[in-house]
Amino acid sequence: MRNIRIITNGIPTSVGPLIINQPLPVGELRYADPFVLLHHAGPQRIEPGSEVHKVESHPHRGFEPVSFVFSGTVIHRDSLGNVGKISGGEVQWITSGKGILHEEGPSLDGSSTGVDLELIQLWINLPSEKKMMEPAYQELHKTAIPDLLLCNGKLRLAVVAGDMKGIVGPAVTQTPISAAMGWFEEGANGMIDFIHDDCMLLYVLAGTLEINDEHVASAHQLVVFDNKADEVSIRAREAGRLLLLSGQPLNEPIATYGPFVMNSEEEIREAFRDYAGGKFGTLE
Ligand code: MN
Repeated sequence: MRNIRIITNGIPTSVGPLIINQPLPVGELRYADPFVLLHHAGPQRIEPGSEVHKVESHPHRGFEPVSFVFSGTVIHRDSLGNVGKISGGEVQWITSGKGILHEEGPSLDGSSTGVDLELIQLWINLPSEKKMMEPAYQELHKTAIPDLLLCNGKLRLAVVAGDMKGIVGPAVTQTPISAAMGWFEEGANGMIDFIHDDCMLLYVLAGTLEINDEHVASAHQLVVFDNKADEVSIRAREAGRLLLLSGQPLNEPIATYGPFVMNSEEEIREAFRDYAGGKFGTLE
């Protein structure tokens, strides 16, 4: 079995109008190479009128910000000219590369009574040779994301990226990355794995899981496993939701500041200079 390296408890923070749990980075886990940051927002009621409080135009460089929406709807506009909208079970995969500007925020999507929003934003690092690539945008709707039923049908995984038991996710990734959103019932019991010697993470959005018969992970906890291809056993004590990730470590120096993830402090200063100099394009 793939052993657990650490389980982190998230720290509370906020982004724009959203209340966030942040299990990565935390004091005892600064980086889970290649995963830089994991933000879990909600479930949070978005009342009519409050959706105007979006995260205003900001830049990114050197990594991939990916949003997994579990419920509700988020909207997005960027300097590439994309205007996007994704809802429960859907994913937005941005490759910021050399630079993108965007704004993002909740949407009522036509509801007059409000919606419950829940999403995860994950930052995936790019290797040095791809940090300055042309930016790209993928919007992955429900019809494109295949389901995989495990644990006698009590765990439903929506496979977003990579290959899990022959089910292939639609996301184009820059390095080997696997990702699946999951919904499980009480009593779900079985083995899961991506079968790669990569960093593997399991984040629990809600519910309680016994892992490898000896650890318990509950809502808002991030389980980080050893980088060893092997199975993990799960048993659900209480129904809930999860995000399962694996990624090949980059093993490169990392320098992060604000919305930039680079290899050196000089590259961070360059990113600020380029942003100030208008090199990230414009948001119409
Ligand atoms: Mn952003």
